[in-house]
Amino acid sequence: MAKIAINIATGTLQQEEMIVGIDLGTTNSLVAIIHPESKKPVALKEHNSNSLVPSVIHFGQHDITVGNEAKQYLVSDAANTVFSAKRLMGKTYNDVKNNSTLLAYKIIDDENKLVKVQVGDIFYSPVELSSFILKELKKQAEHILKTPVGKAVITVPAYFNDAQRQATRDAGKLAGLDVLRIINEPTAASLAYGFGLNQGEQKTIAVYDLGGGTFDISILNINGGIFEVLSTNGDTYLGGDDLDAAIVDYWLAQNTFAGDESTHRQGLRLKAEEAKKYLSANGLFKTVYAGKHISLSRQQFEALIKPIIERTITSCKNALKDAGLKKNDIDEIVMVGGSTRVPLVKEMVSSFFEKKPNDTVDPDEVVALGAAIQADILAGNTTNMLLLDVTPLSLGLETMGGLMDVLLPRNSKIPAKAARQYTTYKDGQSGMKIAVYQGERDMVKDNRRLAEFNLTGIPGMPAGMPKVEISFLINADGILAVNAKELRSGVEQSIEVKPQYGLTDEDVEKMLLDSMEHAKEDMELRGLTEAKTEAEQLLQTTEKFMHKNFENLTQDEITATSLAMQALQLSLDMNDKNLVQTKTEALNEISRPYAERIMDLAIGKAMKGSKI
Ligand code: AMP
Repeated sequence: MAKIAINIATGTLQQEEMIVGIDLGTTNSLVAIIHPESKKPVALKEHNSNSLVPSVIHFGQHDITVGNEAKQYLVSDAANTVFSAKRLMGKTYNDVKNNSTLLAYKIIDDENKLVKVQVGDIFYSPVELSSFILKELKKQAEHILKTPVGKAVITVPAYFNDAQRQATRDAGKLAGLDVLRIINEPTAASLAYGFGLNQGEQKTIAVYDLGGGTFDISILNINGGIFEVLSTNGDTYLGGDDLDAAIVDYWLAQNTFAGDESTHRQGLRLKAEEAKKYLSANGLFKTVYAGKHISLSRQQFEALIKPIIERTITSCKNALKDAGLKKNDIDEIVMVGGSTRVPLVKEMVSSFFEKKPNDTVDPDEVVALGAAIQADILAGNTTNMLLLDVTPLSLGLETMGGLMDVLLPRNSKIPAKAARQYTTYKDGQSGMKIAVYQGERDMVKDNRRLAEFNLTGIPGMPAGMPKVEISFLINADGILAVNAKELRSGVEQSIEVKPQYGLTDEDVEKMLLDSMEHAKEDMELRGLTEAKTEAEQLLQTTEKFMHKNFENLTQDEITATSLAMQALQLSLDMNDKNLVQTKTEALNEISRPYAERIMDLAIGKAMKGSKI
């Protein structure tokens, strides 16, 4: 893929930088390229070594190491060894505190701020931590390729939100990489199997990704070279580690070992992982641990892990439901992640979908290989393709009464653009608060605030006159740019959504469930809020009208209007939508006749002054 270009100014030969594909994983990361001769994607590895670089960083006395070397310190120097930094990307302390006990290193307790990890006296953001891993990947790739690596395509889980995608992009920048594209892991995995590479192809694909610590299922639609994520589901704390833990529990229940249980857990965990891998191809695993013979048959292993795999099948059902599909709509199943090597996993997935899954590409490499294919497409070496994804949650704005006004509904295809016009509420209002939210609930307080800014400098105009167009633009990386423009004056302001507030992946699921659970009360609350907003506006305009046209009103009209206004004002505190609407209508009924009369009067006056 490295091209030789001639620098016209100097006439010298200059080697263009390589574009690589990077799978920045929770447990392991790796780099892939399209082989210049075979034109096939290959994972980069040093001679006789593995392509996987453990996503572990060790902060030593004098240096920072990443990968296999750092992994050796996970137990012996746990406080200075950081793993699973990807789980912290774009998140606040509040988001991760429930799971922070799983991490041996120190996370700073600062509720709403983005998470930082403390190592010694230094605080690191997840972006910096990920940048250490990317720097190491870049260094290793340059060493293997013997050429500079400056540009990359990096993969992220399909459920990553704007903040997490932005954080990944920033990490790339910090590592000295120009991140050309952030793409979804399931999209990359599909590409590695060649799906979507033919323009005329139309396919629905389920990507089943069971790694060491996380499980994701994504349903993709490919049509004419365009990839679209129809739905995602999963569990961020379910993976090969749980299979190991089930074996450890079993051995501890079957045997009595002298001494501390937690020490045995640690020791048995390594044996369990060994047993799990061995049983993928054999019937009985035997070993000696702490002077005792322990064993595990394939049958016992499968009985232990079946309930865990069942949970992934439940996620598959949910993903299908969200995508509005039946299992026989799925044309291909793609297996990703080391744990899909377990034969029972393949069997259960195959029996659920009633179709044999695609498992010929190494499940540890498949995502990076797909990223390399995307890099090749961007380099202009492959057919003209576009990779399209969707927004996992709705994006919208706060409007009067704290309502969520959705501009881009959940599962909108990206890149996407949406715009809507808003206006001012008060006369002479010169500023407008623009608060951007993400979520499925009707009230913004139940959703996630992504960003807020003020459009200022709107010239003085009566309420309702300014036309403020707010547009949302999500680029192909899923990063949101919000622009607000007052169309009459041209006053304009825009922001790119910054990762102020993280959103955990569990939250995505929880927010969807919450929105279903609260759908009825949300609808009622929206109805009430809209009725109250309308009532408040009517009270304001009526008051203004009365003030202006006092002389043209009879005493009866003034009294009746005041009473109806009072009744409407009182109804606002009763939280009864029907009552508010009845009182609004009553006030309208009273004011309509004289409003028309005064209007006619004004028209009459105007007519008199004009020649026919
Ligand atoms: P990943 O996060 O995709 O790198 O997957 C790592 C997980 O795959 C770990 O839990 C490994 O123990 C597991 N794994 C790797 N090879 C095998 C195998 N042959 N059989 C079962 N599990 C495996």
